[in-house]
Amino acid sequence: MPDINALFDAQRRAFAQQPFPSLAERKRRLRQLKRLILDNETAIADALNADFGSRAFYETRFIEVLPSVANINHNLSALRRWMKPKRRLLHWLYQPASGAIWAQPLGVVGIMVPWNYSLLLATGPLVSALAAGNRCMIKLSELTPQFGAVFAQLVADYFSPDEVTVINGEVEVAQAFSALPFDHLVFTGSTAVGRHIMSAAAANLTPVTLELGGKSPAFIDRSIPVAEAARRLVFAKCTNAGQTCVAPDYVLCPTDHIDDFVAAYLAEVRRQYGAQPTASADYSAIINARQHQRLTGYLKQAQQAGAQLHWPDTAPDLDDTDAKLPPVVLTSVDPDSPVMQDEIFGPLLPVLPCDSAEAAIDFINQRPRPLSLYVFGYDRALKTHFQQRTHSGSLVFNDALIQVAQDNLPFGGVGASGMGHYHDREGFERLSKMKPILSKGRISTLKLAYPPYNRWIHRLIQWLLLR
Ligand code: NAD
Repeated sequence: MPDINALFDAQRRAFAQQPFPSLAERKRRLRQLKRLILDNETAIADALNADFGSRAFYETRFIEVLPSVANINHNLSALRRWMKPKRRLLHWLYQPASGAIWAQPLGVVGIMVPWNYSLLLATGPLVSALAAGNRCMIKLSELTPQFGAVFAQLVADYFSPDEVTVINGEVEVAQAFSALPFDHLVFTGSTAVGRHIMSAAAANLTPVTLELGGKSPAFIDRSIPVAEAARRLVFAKCTNAGQTCVAPDYVLCPTDHIDDFVAAYLAEVRRQYGAQPTASADYSAIINARQHQRLTGYLKQAQQAGAQLHWPDTAPDLDDTDAKLPPVVLTSVDPDSPVMQDEIFGPLLPVLPCDSAEAAIDFINQRPRPLSLYVFGYDRALKTHFQQRTHSGSLVFNDALIQVAQDNLPFGGVGASGMGHYHDREGFERLSKMKPILSKGRISTLKLAYPPYNRWIHRLIQWLLLR
């Protein structure tokens, strides 16, 4: 087991020696991270390819490398503005005085990363943490050991260990990591493990940002051609073979449009990935045999319960865990079946009948609050309905997935899908102490209101109360 306590102490000491890194120093660290990524893009993509068995090279570039670098660029250009103290007006009763909110680095931030987008989900919180002037320790997933080894070495090459360090190891290491008395802990992973993280952090009163998962629904309204919605959903669902936290988990579709939806969805799958998607170098594999079995288990169970499976090509051998799992649509699915209870996290798309926005909102509100909610429809009234009557980490109209890549939007869940935001200014502020500062000078008029209280003070209070 790596000596994580010693690494943590070294970061604490280094932070104490430099408690407020300058703008130039923070930018240097961000540029260093950018160089790390750009100089080693191929090594990173190769490692992820080895971990997945097959991870499409352009997927890694498009979904991990590009948004990581764009996030760094955005922070580099906005950091000076974010670091400026924000003036606040104080009540006249306490004048003369000035007030401001000042962003102060927290100290040592812990970052825990899942396996599905190892680079993106390590760099996302890291960029916010470095911009905010913190030191960082990163625990990578035990399910991506090749990436873990490569990234740990790169971070050691580009940063000093008291600046940024990477820890690899099994679940025991992750448990010990989550028990360190960080000044903030950002965890990205499953809702179940998120509960353990929060209780471990509670022992130290370490504040947490939890970026969790769950079932993100997609509702299709009659006001959009169903084929158009299907086409836009394929990219979001099939990228990384559906192993994406914000992938549309299931679709709510008007009953009489389900057949058209299935046909359009499968046609678009074939257009994007060819007649045999599993043969495409652009289509990724399931991370390991255990996940493969979990997914095919849902399919077998659903089939036994009367669901129909629709494949883009001939049905695959579900027991061949070495093979890629093609995209598949499920219809006539029981809403209480396991595939509709657990987060799918794979290329399986159940389509359930749903004939109105009202019914969709009821269905969604009866379930845990999702990380994302996708609404497809051109009717303007839909916007107000869904904005006001549903809760989700993010709400997207007429597209899916792309909200994660927006540098100008914060990202985070709500309820079972997480707490707290990162990305953009919200990430910087989340990993800073936004410290209110009140300053008075030589003059203090408040002295006039000190005890012993007289009737003038009572009159003043009375006047203030009745204003
Ligand atoms: P996971 O919860 O199994 O693991 C995440 C991290 O937690 C890993 O680093 C792992 O080492 C560590 N861990 C595992 N068990 C632990 C324990 N008992 N105590 C402490 N740490 C432990 O998640 P995963 O399987 O790697 O990733 C998939 C999940 O992550 C899905 O639910 C997905 O929706 C979610 N996810 C969320 C986001 C988001 O941004 N909200 C992004 C990607 C993935």
